[in-house]
Amino acid sequence: MFNMLKNEEKNLVLDISADEIFAHIENMCAHGPRYVGSEADSKAIEYFKKKLNEYGAEVIEEEFEAPAFEERKSLLKITSPIEMEIPCKAVFFTTPTPSEGVSGELIFVGSGSKEEFEKTNVEGKIVVVENSPESPKGALGLEISLAASKGAEAYVLAHFASPPYVLMTETGFFDRSKRFVEMEPKEIPAVIIGSLHWKKLYSLMEKDTVKGTLLVDAIREKRKTKNVRGIILGKKHPEKRILLVAHRDTVSCPGASDNTSGNAIILELARIFSKYRPDTTIEIVSFGAGEVLGCVGSWTYMEKHKDELKNVIGAINLDAVGFGGHLRIVTEGSWIDAGPIKTDTKINRLLEEAAKDLNYVVKHTVCMLGLSDATPFLVNDVPAAWLWKYDDPYWHTDLDIPENIDPNSLKITAEIVGLAAKRLSEK
Ligand SMILES: [Zn+2]
Repeated sequence: MFNMLKNEEKNLVLDISADEIFAHIENMCAHGPRYVGSEADSKAIEYFKKKLNEYGAEVIEEEFEAPAFEERKSLLKITSPIEMEIPCKAVFFTTPTPSEGVSGELIFVGSGSKEEFEKTNVEGKIVVVENSPESPKGALGLEISLAASKGAEAYVLAHFASPPYVLMTETGFFDRSKRFVEMEPKEIPAVIIGSLHWKKLYSLMEKDTVKGTLLVDAIREKRKTKNVRGIILGKKHPEKRILLVAHRDTVSCPGASDNTSGNAIILELARIFSKYRPDTTIEIVSFGAGEVLGCVGSWTYMEKHKDELKNVIGAINLDAVGFGGHLRIVTEGSWIDAGPIKTDTKINRLLEEAAKDLNYVVKHTVCMLGLSDATPFLVNDVPAAWLWKYDDPYWHTDLDIPENIDPNSLKITAEIVGLAAKRLSEK
Protein backbone atom coordinates (compact mmCIF):
# COMPACT_ATOMS: atom_id res chain seq x y z
CA MET A 1 0.00 0.00 0.00
CA PHE A 2 1.05 3.60 -0.62
CA ASN A 3 3.78 2.52 -3.09
CA MET A 4 3.41 5.78 -4.97
CA LEU A 5 4.14 7.88 -1.89
CA LYS A 6 7.42 9.35 -0.72
CA ASN A 7 8.31 8.56 2.89
CA GLU A 8 7.42 12.01 4.20
CA GLU A 9 4.10 11.83 2.35
CA LYS A 10 3.42 8.45 3.90
CA ASN A 11 4.10 9.73 7.42
CA LEU A 12 1.82 12.68 6.93
CA VAL A 13 -1.03 10.58 5.59
CA LEU A 14 -0.70 7.86 8.24
CA ASP A 15 -0.92 10.47 10.99
CA ILE A 16 -4.33 11.77 9.89
CA SER A 17 -6.85 10.59 12.47
CA ALA A 18 -10.50 9.71 11.91
CA ASP A 19 -11.04 10.03 15.68
CA GLU A 20 -9.68 13.58 15.78
CA ILE A 21 -11.88 14.61 12.86
CA PHE A 22 -14.97 13.04 14.40
CA ALA A 23 -14.27 14.68 17.77
CA HIS A 24 -14.25 18.07 15.98
CA ILE A 25 -17.61 17.27 14.43
CA GLU A 26 -19.15 16.24 17.75
CA ASN A 27 -17.81 19.31 19.52
CA MET A 28 -18.83 21.80 16.87
CA CYS A 29 -22.32 20.26 16.50
CA ALA A 30 -22.95 19.99 20.25
CA HIS A 31 -24.90 23.25 20.55
CA GLY A 32 -27.42 22.81 17.75
CA PRO A 33 -27.85 24.67 14.46
CA ARG A 34 -25.08 27.20 13.83
CA TYR A 35 -27.11 30.10 12.53
CA VAL A 36 -24.94 33.08 11.58
CA GLY A 37 -24.01 35.03 14.72
CA SER A 38 -25.76 32.58 17.09
CA GLU A 39 -24.65 31.36 20.50
CA ALA A 40 -24.00 27.90 19.00
CA ASP A 41 -21.72 29.48 16.44
CA SER A 42 -19.79 31.44 19.10
CA LYS A 43 -19.16 28.17 20.91
CA ALA A 44 -17.97 26.53 17.70
CA ILE A 45 -15.61 29.48 17.07
CA GLU A 46 -14.16 29.09 20.59
CA TYR A 47 -13.56 25.40 19.95
CA PHE A 48 -11.99 26.03 16.56
CA LYS A 49 -9.64 28.67 18.00
CA LYS A 50 -8.72 26.54 21.00
CA LYS A 51 -7.67 23.70 18.73
CA LEU A 52 -5.67 25.98 16.39
CA ASN A 53 -3.86 27.39 19.42
CA GLU A 54 -3.13 23.89 20.67
CA TYR A 55 -1.55 23.05 17.32
CA GLY A 56 0.63 26.15 17.46
CA ALA A 57 -1.00 27.93 14.51
CA GLU A 58 -1.28 31.71 14.54
CA VAL A 59 -4.96 32.54 15.06
CA ILE A 60 -6.58 35.60 13.50
CA GLU A 61 -10.25 36.51 13.85
CA GLU A 62 -11.91 38.88 11.41
CA GLU A 63 -15.33 40.14 12.42
CA PHE A 64 -17.92 41.30 9.90
CA GLU A 65 -21.64 41.80 9.60
CA ALA A 66 -23.78 39.35 7.66
CA PRO A 67 -27.46 38.68 7.03
CA ALA A 68 -28.67 36.11 9.57
CA PHE A 69 -31.76 33.94 9.74
CA GLU A 70 -32.82 31.86 12.71
CA GLU A 71 -35.91 29.67 12.76
CA ARG A 72 -37.55 29.20 16.17
CA LYS A 73 -40.69 27.32 15.28
CA SER A 74 -42.87 26.79 12.25
CA LEU A 75 -46.22 25.03 12.16
CA LEU A 76 -49.06 24.55 9.70
CA LYS A 77 -52.33 24.10 11.59
CA ILE A 78 -55.19 22.68 9.58
CA THR A 79 -58.42 24.06 11.05
CA SER A 80 -61.09 22.77 8.66
CA PRO A 81 -62.62 20.27 7.77
CA ILE A 82 -60.61 18.54 10.51
CA GLU A 83 -57.97 19.74 12.92
CA MET A 84 -54.44 18.60 12.21
CA GLU A 85 -50.97 19.92 12.98
CA ILE A 86 -48.35 19.60 10.29
CA PRO A 87 -44.75 20.16 11.35
CA CYS A 88 -42.78 22.19 8.84
CA LYS A 89 -39.48 23.92 8.25
CA ALA A 90 -39.24 27.58 7.31
CA VAL A 91 -37.75 28.24 3.91
CA PHE A 92 -34.36 29.70 4.84
CA PHE A 93 -34.52 33.48 5.10
CA THR A 94 -38.29 33.69 4.69
CA THR A 95 -40.28 36.48 6.27
CA PRO A 96 -41.87 35.44 9.60
CA THR A 97 -45.66 35.55 10.11
CA PRO A 98 -47.40 37.76 12.67
CA SER A 99 -47.75 35.92 15.99
CA GLU A 100 -51.34 34.89 15.21
CA GLY A 101 -50.13 33.41 11.90
CA VAL A 102 -51.51 33.73 8.39
CA SER A 103 -54.86 32.05 7.78
CA GLY A 104 -56.65 31.06 4.64
CA GLU A 105 -57.82 28.35 2.29
CA LEU A 106 -55.13 25.99 1.04
CA ILE A 107 -54.90 25.69 -2.72
CA PHE A 108 -52.81 23.20 -4.72
CA VAL A 109 -50.88 24.69 -7.65
CA GLY A 110 -49.07 21.57 -8.94
CA SER A 111 -45.39 22.28 -9.54
CA GLY A 112 -45.98 26.01 -9.19
CA SER A 113 -45.26 26.91 -12.82
CA LYS A 114 -46.40 30.17 -14.41
CA GLU A 115 -49.07 28.29 -16.40
CA GLU A 116 -50.44 26.61 -13.28
CA PHE A 117 -50.63 29.95 -11.47
CA GLU A 118 -52.47 31.42 -14.51
CA LYS A 119 -55.15 28.71 -14.24
CA THR A 120 -55.68 28.98 -10.47
CA ASN A 121 -57.09 31.79 -8.37
CA VAL A 122 -54.75 32.01 -5.39
CA GLU A 123 -55.80 35.46 -4.17
CA GLY A 124 -55.81 35.50 -0.35
CA LYS A 125 -54.97 31.78 -0.17
CA ILE A 126 -52.13 29.60 1.08
CA VAL A 127 -50.62 27.97 -2.00
CA VAL A 128 -49.26 24.43 -1.85
CA VAL A 129 -46.64 23.55 -4.47
CA GLU A 130 -45.20 20.09 -5.03
CA ASN A 131 -41.45 19.44 -5.19
CA SER A 132 -40.95 16.31 -7.27
CA PRO A 133 -37.82 14.15 -7.46
CA GLU A 134 -37.96 14.40 -11.29
CA SER A 135 -37.35 18.14 -11.25
CA PRO A 136 -36.24 19.06 -7.74
CA LYS A 137 -36.30 22.74 -6.90
CA GLY A 138 -33.21 24.67 -5.84
CA ALA A 139 -33.39 28.37 -5.00
CA LEU A 140 -37.04 29.27 -4.27
CA GLY A 141 -36.93 33.07 -4.38
CA LEU A 142 -38.43 33.54 -7.83
CA GLU A 143 -41.12 30.89 -7.23
CA ILE A 144 -42.31 32.39 -3.94
CA SER A 145 -42.23 35.80 -5.58
CA LEU A 146 -44.52 34.53 -8.36
CA ALA A 147 -47.04 33.29 -5.77
CA ALA A 148 -46.87 36.67 -3.99
CA SER A 149 -47.45 38.54 -7.24
CA LYS A 150 -50.64 36.51 -7.76
CA GLY A 151 -51.95 37.58 -4.37
CA ALA A 152 -51.16 34.44 -2.33
CA GLU A 153 -50.82 34.92 1.44
CA ALA A 154 -48.32 32.15 2.07
CA TYR A 155 -46.33 29.44 0.25
CA VAL A 156 -46.07 25.78 1.29
CA LEU A 157 -43.67 23.48 -0.54
CA ALA A 158 -44.65 19.81 -0.30
CA HIS A 159 -41.43 17.86 -0.48
CA PHE A 160 -41.04 14.40 -2.01
CA ALA A 161 -39.28 12.94 1.04
CA SER A 162 -39.47 13.01 4.82
CA PRO A 163 -37.90 14.75 6.58
CA PRO A 164 -37.93 17.54 4.03
CA TYR A 165 -34.74 19.35 3.16
CA VAL A 166 -34.62 23.07 3.66
CA LEU A 167 -34.37 25.28 0.60
CA MET A 168 -33.81 29.01 0.56
CA THR A 169 -35.44 32.21 -0.60
CA GLU A 170 -32.43 33.01 -2.78
CA THR A 171 -32.83 33.39 -6.53
CA GLY A 172 -29.80 31.50 -7.85
CA PHE A 173 -28.38 34.63 -9.50
CA PHE A 174 -24.64 35.26 -9.57
CA ASP A 175 -25.19 39.01 -9.39
CA ARG A 176 -25.16 39.59 -5.64
CA SER A 177 -27.61 42.46 -5.85
CA LYS A 178 -30.16 40.01 -7.31
CA ARG A 179 -29.72 37.12 -4.92
CA PHE A 180 -32.90 38.06 -3.10
CA VAL A 181 -36.04 39.30 -4.87
CA GLU A 182 -38.21 42.12 -3.69
CA MET A 183 -41.67 40.60 -3.59
CA GLU A 184 -44.69 42.52 -4.85
CA PRO A 185 -47.13 43.47 -3.46
CA LYS A 186 -45.53 42.07 -0.26
CA GLU A 187 -43.25 39.35 1.05
CA ILE A 188 -45.08 36.17 1.94
CA PRO A 189 -43.96 33.50 4.43
CA ALA A 190 -42.84 30.14 3.01
CA VAL A 191 -42.38 26.71 4.58
CA ILE A 192 -41.61 23.14 3.57
CA ILE A 193 -43.49 20.02 4.68
CA GLY A 194 -42.40 16.38 4.35
CA SER A 195 -43.95 13.71 2.15
CA LEU A 196 -45.66 11.80 4.98
CA HIS A 197 -47.76 14.78 6.01
CA TRP A 198 -48.23 15.86 2.40
CA LYS A 199 -49.93 12.52 1.64
CA LYS A 200 -52.50 13.10 4.38
CA LEU A 201 -53.01 16.72 3.42
CA TYR A 202 -53.39 15.92 -0.27
CA SER A 203 -56.08 13.31 0.30
CA LEU A 204 -57.93 15.84 2.43
CA MET A 205 -57.61 18.55 -0.24
CA GLU A 206 -58.90 16.18 -2.93
CA LYS A 207 -62.19 15.74 -1.05
CA ASP A 208 -62.83 19.06 0.60
CA THR A 209 -62.03 22.73 0.97
CA VAL A 210 -59.16 22.83 3.45
CA LYS A 211 -58.40 25.83 5.64
CA GLY A 212 -55.48 26.45 7.91
CA THR A 213 -53.13 28.81 9.69
CA LEU A 214 -49.42 29.04 9.04
CA LEU A 215 -47.08 30.13 11.82
CA VAL A 216 -43.45 31.02 11.21
CA ASP A 217 -41.55 32.30 14.23
CA ALA A 218 -38.13 33.32 12.95
CA ILE A 219 -35.57 36.09 13.26
CA ARG A 220 -34.12 37.86 10.25
CA GLU A 221 -31.51 40.48 10.97
CA LYS A 222 -27.91 41.56 10.47
CA ARG A 223 -25.53 39.98 12.93
CA LYS A 224 -21.85 39.95 13.63
CA THR A 225 -19.87 36.84 12.85
CA LYS A 226 -16.23 35.96 12.20
CA ASN A 227 -13.90 34.45 9.68
CA VAL A 228 -11.42 32.45 11.75
CA ARG A 229 -7.96 31.97 10.25
CA GLY A 230 -5.19 29.65 11.38
CA ILE A 231 -1.76 30.21 9.88
CA ILE A 232 1.10 27.72 9.73
CA LEU A 233 4.22 29.26 8.24
CA GLY A 234 5.96 27.45 5.39
CA LYS A 235 9.55 26.26 5.72
CA LYS A 236 10.91 27.50 2.40
CA HIS A 237 8.47 30.04 1.00
CA PRO A 238 6.48 31.45 3.90
CA GLU A 239 5.27 34.34 1.72
CA LYS A 240 3.40 31.90 -0.53
CA ARG A 241 0.13 30.53 0.79
CA ILE A 242 -2.24 27.64 0.26
CA LEU A 243 -5.73 28.14 1.67
CA LEU A 244 -7.91 25.33 2.99
CA VAL A 245 -11.38 26.78 3.53
CA ALA A 246 -14.89 25.82 4.68
CA HIS A 247 -18.01 27.75 5.68
CA ARG A 248 -19.08 27.17 9.27
CA ASP A 249 -22.75 28.28 9.43
CA THR A 250 -25.55 25.76 8.98
CA VAL A 251 -29.12 25.70 7.70
CA SER A 252 -31.65 24.98 10.48
CA CYS A 253 -29.82 21.79 11.52
CA PRO A 254 -26.57 20.86 13.27
CA GLY A 255 -24.99 20.45 9.83
CA ALA A 256 -22.64 17.59 10.67
CA SER A 257 -21.93 17.21 6.98
CA ASP A 258 -22.90 20.69 5.71
CA ASN A 259 -20.50 21.98 6.73
CA THR A 260 -18.99 20.80 10.00
CA SER A 261 -17.28 18.10 7.93
CA GLY A 262 -15.29 20.74 6.03
CA ASN A 263 -14.31 22.54 9.24
CA ALA A 264 -13.32 19.31 10.98
CA ILE A 265 -11.11 18.22 8.09
CA ILE A 266 -9.27 21.54 7.75
CA LEU A 267 -8.81 21.61 11.52
CA GLU A 268 -7.24 18.16 11.45
CA LEU A 269 -5.03 19.30 8.57
CA ALA A 270 -3.95 22.26 10.71
CA ARG A 271 -2.72 19.74 13.27
CA ILE A 272 -0.99 17.67 10.60
CA PHE A 273 0.70 20.61 8.85
CA SER A 274 1.88 22.08 12.17
CA LYS A 275 3.70 18.81 12.66
CA TYR A 276 4.85 18.25 9.08
CA ARG A 277 5.45 21.81 7.98
CA PRO A 278 5.26 22.15 4.22
CA ASP A 279 7.31 24.49 1.98
CA THR A 280 4.65 27.18 1.70
CA THR A 281 2.39 28.64 4.34
CA ILE A 282 -0.86 26.83 4.98
CA GLU A 283 -3.82 28.97 5.97
CA ILE A 284 -6.98 27.38 7.33
CA VAL A 285 -10.09 29.57 7.09
CA SER A 286 -13.48 28.89 8.65
CA PHE A 287 -15.90 31.33 7.01
CA GLY A 288 -18.62 32.78 9.25
CA ALA A 289 -21.35 33.04 6.63
CA GLY A 290 -21.33 30.85 3.58
CA GLU A 291 -24.33 28.69 3.25
CA VAL A 292 -26.98 29.97 0.86
CA LEU A 293 -26.46 33.59 1.84
CA GLY A 294 -24.26 34.56 -1.04
CA CYS A 295 -20.99 33.30 0.46
CA VAL A 296 -20.68 36.53 2.47
CA GLY A 297 -17.76 35.18 4.53
CA SER A 298 -15.53 34.34 1.59
CA TRP A 299 -16.42 37.55 -0.31
CA THR A 300 -15.57 39.54 2.82
CA TYR A 301 -12.25 37.71 3.06
CA MET A 302 -11.53 38.57 -0.59
CA GLU A 303 -12.24 42.24 -0.17
CA LYS A 304 -10.13 42.48 2.97
CA HIS A 305 -7.15 40.62 1.52
CA LYS A 306 -7.26 41.72 -2.11
CA ASP A 307 -3.65 42.90 -2.07
CA GLU A 308 -2.37 39.58 -0.73
CA LEU A 309 -4.12 37.34 -3.23
CA LYS A 310 -1.16 37.24 -5.61
CA ASN A 311 0.65 35.14 -3.00
CA VAL A 312 -2.13 32.56 -2.77
CA ILE A 313 -1.05 29.67 -4.99
CA GLY A 314 -4.24 27.74 -4.44
CA ALA A 315 -7.42 27.39 -2.39
CA ILE A 316 -9.28 24.17 -1.67
CA ASN A 317 -12.87 24.56 -0.46
CA LEU A 318 -14.56 21.70 1.39
CA ASP A 319 -18.34 21.99 1.54
CA ALA A 320 -20.63 19.14 2.59
CA VAL A 321 -18.32 16.14 2.38
CA GLY A 322 -19.81 14.16 5.27
CA PHE A 323 -22.30 11.77 3.70
CA GLY A 324 -23.06 10.38 0.29
CA GLY A 325 -21.19 8.19 -2.15
CA HIS A 326 -17.96 9.18 -3.86
CA LEU A 327 -16.08 12.34 -3.13
CA ARG A 328 -16.63 14.72 -6.06
CA ILE A 329 -14.32 17.26 -7.61
CA VAL A 330 -16.66 20.01 -8.81
CA THR A 331 -15.26 20.94 -12.21
CA GLU A 332 -17.59 23.84 -12.96
CA GLY A 333 -20.53 25.78 -11.59
CA SER A 334 -23.36 27.78 -13.16
CA TRP A 335 -25.87 30.39 -12.07
CA ILE A 336 -29.09 31.58 -13.73
CA ASP A 337 -27.27 34.63 -15.10
CA ALA A 338 -23.64 33.51 -15.27
CA GLY A 339 -21.23 30.66 -15.88
CA PRO A 340 -20.20 28.07 -16.28
CA ILE A 341 -17.10 29.03 -14.33
CA LYS A 342 -14.48 26.31 -14.18
CA THR A 343 -12.52 25.38 -11.08
CA ASP A 344 -8.72 25.15 -11.37
CA THR A 345 -7.60 22.20 -13.49
CA LYS A 346 -4.12 22.03 -11.93
CA ILE A 347 -5.45 21.68 -8.37
CA ASN A 348 -8.14 19.30 -9.54
CA ARG A 349 -5.44 17.16 -11.13
CA LEU A 350 -3.38 17.20 -7.93
CA LEU A 351 -6.44 16.08 -5.96
CA GLU A 352 -7.10 13.33 -8.46
CA GLU A 353 -3.50 12.11 -8.46
CA ALA A 354 -3.43 12.18 -4.66
CA ALA A 355 -6.59 10.07 -4.56
CA LYS A 356 -5.17 7.63 -7.09
CA ASP A 357 -1.85 7.27 -5.25
CA LEU A 358 -3.81 6.56 -2.06
CA ASN A 359 -5.96 3.97 -3.88
CA TYR A 360 -9.19 5.95 -3.55
CA VAL A 361 -11.72 6.84 -6.23
CA VAL A 362 -12.88 10.40 -6.73
CA LYS A 363 -15.44 11.45 -9.33
CA HIS A 364 -16.35 14.66 -11.07
CA THR A 365 -19.51 16.71 -11.02
CA VAL A 366 -20.87 20.12 -11.96
CA CYS A 367 -23.10 22.32 -9.80
CA MET A 368 -26.10 24.36 -10.96
CA LEU A 369 -26.15 26.47 -7.79
CA GLY A 370 -22.76 28.07 -8.20
CA LEU A 371 -19.40 27.09 -6.76
CA SER A 372 -19.86 27.59 -3.01
CA ASP A 373 -16.92 29.41 -1.38
CA ALA A 374 -14.60 28.66 -4.30
CA THR A 375 -16.44 31.36 -6.29
CA PRO A 376 -14.84 34.55 -4.89
CA PHE A 377 -11.37 33.03 -5.32
CA LEU A 378 -11.93 32.05 -8.94
CA VAL A 379 -13.50 35.40 -9.78
CA ASN A 380 -10.36 37.04 -8.37
CA ASP A 381 -8.06 34.76 -10.43
CA VAL A 382 -6.94 32.67 -7.47
CA PRO A 383 -6.69 28.98 -8.47
CA ALA A 384 -9.40 27.21 -6.48
CA ALA A 385 -11.12 23.84 -6.20
CA TRP A 386 -14.23 22.57 -4.45
CA LEU A 387 -14.76 19.09 -3.02
CA TRP A 388 -18.35 17.99 -2.39
CA LYS A 389 -20.53 14.92 -1.90
CA TYR A 390 -23.75 15.82 -3.58
CA ASP A 391 -25.64 12.56 -3.18
CA ASP A 392 -26.26 13.28 0.46
CA PRO A 393 -29.57 11.91 1.80
CA TYR A 394 -29.53 14.16 4.89
CA TRP A 395 -28.60 17.50 3.27
CA HIS A 396 -30.29 20.42 5.11
CA THR A 397 -32.44 18.06 7.20
CA ASP A 398 -32.68 17.33 10.92
CA LEU A 399 -30.75 14.14 10.21
CA ASP A 400 -27.56 16.00 9.32
CA ILE A 401 -26.13 14.93 12.68
CA PRO A 402 -22.82 13.38 13.82
CA GLU A 403 -24.45 9.96 14.39
CA ASN A 404 -24.92 9.61 10.63
CA ILE A 405 -21.30 10.37 9.76
CA ASP A 406 -18.73 7.75 8.86
CA PRO A 407 -15.44 9.02 10.37
CA ASN A 408 -13.39 6.91 7.97
CA SER A 409 -14.83 8.59 4.91
CA LEU A 410 -13.77 11.93 6.40
CA LYS A 411 -10.28 10.59 6.97
CA ILE A 412 -10.11 9.60 3.31
CA THR A 413 -11.04 13.13 2.23
CA ALA A 414 -8.50 14.61 4.66
CA GLU A 415 -5.78 12.33 3.27
CA ILE A 416 -6.54 13.38 -0.30
CA VAL A 417 -6.58 17.10 0.55
CA GLY A 418 -3.52 16.84 2.80
CA LEU A 419 -1.45 15.05 0.18
CA ALA A 420 -2.56 17.36 -2.64
CA ALA A 421 -1.81 20.46 -0.53
CA LYS A 422 1.65 19.16 0.37
CA ARG A 423 2.43 18.50 -3.29
CA LEU A 424 1.08 21.91 -4.31
CA SER A 425 3.41 23.53 -1.77
CA GLU A 426 6.37 21.86 -3.49
CA LYS A 427 5.45 22.98 -7.03
ZN1 LIG B 1 -22.62 24.12 2.53
